[in-house]
Parts: sequence; structure tokens; C-alpha cells
Amino acid sequence: MPLFGRKPAPAPAVPGTPVRRTLPPPSQLRRDRRALLRVREERIRDLGGLMLEMYRRDQFRQDLVVDRCTELVALEERIAELDALLSAAMSVRHRPAARCECGAPILWGSKFCASCGRPVGASAAPVPPQEA
Ligand SMILES: [Zn+2]
Repeated sequence: MPLFGRKPAPAPAVPGTPVRRTLPPPSQLRRDRRALLRVREERIRDLGGLMLEMYRRDQFRQDLVVDRCTELVALEERIAELDALLSAAMSVRHRPAARCECGAPILWGSKFCASCGRPVGASAAPVPPQEA
């Protein structure tokens, strides 16, 4: 059975490689977003300068412009990704916690109440009459 060609499992937490096991905190997302927006502004200025320089030299290098624009579009996609993550992080934060009949908050995605063990969703079923 040939195993070569198969890459070993990537080491966790390689710098520069986003590992998205959990949603980063909104503060960090906002920081990243601001940093990317700054880079974007800078790149757009550079692109304008490049165009002007090409006009001056009467030498239009389309490949250069395409390269810069490709980079910028990728950057904007990353910013849009951050926007989506940010709104996801905010909606998770502001979602009202579901509560069990016993009053304990139900953890997102859990099937049973961590406090009393009632199955989640049992409150929708008719409650059996209780003894007085
Ligand atoms: Zn409960």
C-alpha cells in the first residue's frame, strides 16, 4: 500500500495558519479586520501611485496591475470573511440562552439538561400531571 504522497497531519498552531476550531473573540476579529483594512487602504494608494507612474513613463504594465488587483481582491475576501465571523460571534453572544423547565440554562447543542438531566425539548411535550 503506497503511503508516499500523503502529507503528514499538519502540526497544530503553525504561525500564520489560521486554525478555526473555535470562534476567535470579537475583539480579536475587530483588531484583525482593522489591520486588514489599513493594509487595503495602503495597497489601494500604492496601486494609484503605480498607475500614475505608468502613465508618466507611458508604459502600461497590465500584468503588474492585475497582480496588485488580485492581491486586493483576496484581501477584501479575507475582510468579508472576518465580517461574517464577527457577525456570527455577535449573534452567538446575543442569543438568549434556552432554559430547561428546571430553570437551568441549556448549553447550545446539548441534548440533556446539565442540571436535572431532562431531555432538551421535553418542555414541548405535554407535562404529565404532578402529584399535589
Ligand atoms: Zn433541567
